[in-house]
Amino acid sequence: MTGVFDLSGRKAIVTGANTGIGQGIAVALAKAGADLALVGRSAAEETQSLVQAEGRKAILVEADLSSIAPVGDVVSQTVEELGQVDILVNNAGIIRREDALDFSEEDWDAVVDTNMKTLFFLSQAVGRHMVEWSNQDGARGKIVNIASMLTFQGGIRVPSYTASKSGVGGLTKLLANEWATKGINVNAIAPGYIATNNTAALQADETRNRQILERIPEGRWGDPADIGGAAVFLASKAADYVQGHVLAVDGGWLAR
Ligand code: NAP
Repeated sequence: MTGVFDLSGRKAIVTGANTGIGQGIAVALAKAGADLALVGRSAAEETQSLVQAEGRKAILVEADLSSIAPVGDVVSQTVEELGQVDILVNNAGIIRREDALDFSEEDWDAVVDTNMKTLFFLSQAVGRHMVEWSNQDGARGKIVNIASMLTFQGGIRVPSYTASKSGVGGLTKLLANEWATKGINVNAIAPGYIATNNTAALQADETRNRQILERIPEGRWGDPADIGGAAVFLASKAADYVQGHVLAVDGGWLAR
């Protein structure tokens, strides 16, 4: 790949890269030329093979991101093995479903800690690293957060998920405001309904599946590869003047 979308020589961290959207993003970044640090709590050998099949390097970094304990090690292992971090994709995330009247503190903390708290502190650790080298290397650091339709909408029976993904939208703007002059772009992607483990229950529910498809102008569930293209754009030079934006990749869901 050549030109403004070329990621040759860039080193990218993708969290939650063993499956779903994280895997789709990792493969897309590799196709564009990036080497990858695949970060997560489950084995990501399948994604590693897919990245290597593109001729790129992929290292495995084991980390349970339900707390911020591993964030320092994630950055230091990546720097040690790949040399630097140019791109961070904060993708790892979970969801818990329950009526707001019955929602537990445990389900609140688990989702907010993984989806929002760790996203912030990993961004901080990577941001500190990017600030150090960006002036020498000339290329801008890129942080891409994975938001949601519930960054814009309220949802139902998912209070901690809605709070966390709304928070991701706000943090994306805050970090862009603070770091734009420090050589870093911070943006987010809001996926629509993408066929992954996360949405398996919805896909299996005949009524919900039909209702969802009726509202999507493209009339289909998204594929993780659909998110990969947007991630390459936001990670590339093509997006050097894009800041604090939450890019919906939703087959038109929000346009309805
Ligand atoms: P998924 O298939 O369930 O993948 C979630 C990823 O996050 C997995 O790799 C998972 O690892 C990882 N993860 C969760 N908790 C973790 C932890 N404590 N430590 C390390 N890794 C952890 O779902 P997905 O749909 O691809 O979701 C990826 C992101 O997209 C999430 O942030 C989700 O909220 C967001 N999203 C998805 C959709 C959709 O329609 N699918 C729509 C909007 C936003 P394990 O395999 O070990 O659990």
